[in-house]
Amino acid sequence: MGKGKHVPIRTCIFCGRKMAKYELLRLVLDDEKRPIWDRKKCLPGRGAYVCPRDECLRKLETQKGRRRLAKAFRGRLARENPELFKVLIEAAGGQDKYDQNQDL
Ligand SMILES: [Zn+2]
Repeated sequence: MGKGKHVPIRTCIFCGRKMAKYELLRLVLDDEKRPIWDRKKCLPGRGAYVCPRDECLRKLETQKGRRRLAKAFRGRLARENPELFKVLIEAAGGQDKYDQNQDL
C-alpha cells in the first residue's frame, strides 16, 4: 500500500509537462468569458493549467499561445484579458528572483 499521499497531476497547456496541481497556475473563465487567474484554485468551471516558467507564460503574449488557451477552454473563451500575462508573471515570480528589485 502507498502512503495515501495522492497528489493530483495536471498538464501545462503550453509545454505539456505534467506537474502537481498545486505547482501550476490555474486559469478559468470569468462571467464575461475572459481568462483569469484562479488564485485560490477553487473557482467553478473548467480550468486550464500553466506552469510558472517564463517560457510558458510568455506564450500568452503570442497568437499561437492564445489559440492554445482558447482550445483548452474548448472554444468558450470569448474575450482577451490583456492583464492576464502580467498577473501571472507576478504570481509566478513572487520568489527570490525578484529579491534585488524591491519596490514595495
Ligand atoms: Zn509549461
